[in-house]
Amino acid sequence: TSIKNEIVESEKQGGELGNLDPSVKVVVRIRPINGQEKEVDRTVRKISSDSLSVSDRKFTFDSVLDSNSNQEDVFQLIGVPLVKNALSGYNTSILSYGQTGSGKSYTMWGPPSAMVEDPSPRSHQGIVPRIFQMLFSEIQREQENLDGKQINYQCRCSFLEIYNEHIGDLLDPTQRNLEIKDDPKNGLYVENLTEEYVSSYEDVTQILIKGLSSRKVGATTVNSKSSRSHIVFTFVIESWCKGASSKCFSSSKTSRISLIDLAGLDRNKLEDVGRQHVQEGKNVKKSLSQLGYLVNALAKETQPEDAPYQGSCLTRILRESLGGNAKLTVICNISADNRNSGEVLSTLRFGQRIKSIRNEPVINEI
Ligand code: ADP
Ligand code: MG
Repeated sequence: TSIKNEIVESEKQGGELGNLDPSVKVVVRIRPINGQEKEVDRTVRKISSDSLSVSDRKFTFDSVLDSNSNQEDVFQLIGVPLVKNALSGYNTSILSYGQTGSGKSYTMWGPPSAMVEDPSPRSHQGIVPRIFQMLFSEIQREQENLDGKQINYQCRCSFLEIYNEHIGDLLDPTQRNLEIKDDPKNGLYVENLTEEYVSSYEDVTQILIKGLSSRKVGATTVNSKSSRSHIVFTFVIESWCKGASSKCFSSSKTSRISLIDLAGLDRNKLEDVGRQHVQEGKNVKKSLSQLGYLVNALAKETQPEDAPYQGSCLTRILRESLGGNAKLTVICNISADNRNSGEVLSTLRFGQRIKSIRNEPVINEI
């Protein structure tokens, strides 16, 4: 029966790779200590490739990346399987989680200038530009491989932010209050959100740079430009065979990549940073609390139809990624010194709860 259980478990995790490619994967990344922190104050230690300790507590995840891991390591671990899954027709998501200053945005995008090597070197490029570099080179390889069939691809993307419980269009900053619609045929979508068709890595980086420069930031004492909004970059791939036999038509597919970078919640007294920021802080806190409630409910095996997705814009947007039709990777970003151990523990507990959620990814044939 143990083999049977394993098979059932592997099927539950969605996909022929079973446990090697679970439907929800949680990776911890430990940020290097910065100038204000001291090595002696380090309370977080990596124990093995999938475990770490905080003071005397041990935690196990799918993988743990130490502070000497670089952007390419993160890409190899998370980005490469994501691109393969996306091109196979699975919806895929990455959620970058952690306290302000823990490296959420660095891990996702890296410095925007690193996307074009000016002046930051490409080694700082985040996982998102690396994903699209690989994706377009895979598509090109596929198209040059004319072994009787030819696959056509059409890709489009959008970039939104959730700021003070309003959805804004990062590709058209005049649009600051868009609505989420739920269409029985097309599912969930954001009405009037700009969609750009793209056919190269350069197209995507231009859009990323434009969108990131429109993101709301605020001054805090943790780092001078803290993100005050949640942002979601969505990329849709449609593929079909050209001039194809009937066999080929059945392989038309569509899939969605959702890349989510959360706003930071500051440890500092909100009063210090002015009234505007108090309201922002309250909204960030509220939406992250709603995310916590949703994750708790799904982790307790609440059926998705009964789970509290309606609590905030963020949880509504995450419906497919959390508990739905997608392969999800959560990156729990933490900093290693002891001043942060409260936040570190809460981030790791979030990671553990999210790990017990079962998503149900399927290949989306059209
Ligand atoms: P968050 O988005 O979680 O608030 P950031 O990604 O903005 O945090 O990171 C805070 C600071 O730390 C930035 O200056 C960033 O460049 C730096 N940083 C974060 N992670 C790393 C890392 N792995 N290597 C080098 N610098 C990092
Ligand atoms: Mg950030």
